[in-house]
Amino acid sequence: MSGRVSNLARQVGAWVAGADAELRAWHPPWADPRIKVILTDREPARPKAGRIYVATASGRPTFGYLVCPCGCRETLHLRFLPNRFPRWDIAIEGNGVVSLMPSVWRQVGCRSHFILKRGKIHWC
Ligand SMILES: [Zn+2]
Repeated sequence: MSGRVSNLARQVGAWVAGADAELRAWHPPWADPRIKVILTDREPARPKAGRIYVATASGRPTFGYLVCPCGCRETLHLRFLPNRFPRWDIAIEGNGVVSLMPSVWRQVGCRSHFILKRGKIHWC
């Protein structure tokens, strides 16, 4: 993993204890089908399915980017900033397992409605 990602992980460390070491660990996709957290500083140009890209500022999550799990290939934009709507809470456990609250419900396009809980998509 690149030094830049490690540095970001360290910044987020105050926010989620233990994530740094776990984010360095490589889990091959066939060993763990859960959605993986990728720390970033901007919207990825070519986001991949099965990952949630989390941008941070001052060690706090600000935005998330997630390729729609329905297969429509749209990138969903998730806001984690307070005092904005819509917004989501993101929780990342020490082992990198990610959850979002509340559910994601697209009002356009595929109209997917799902919950991301402990790294897995649960369709509503
Ligand atoms: Zn979709």
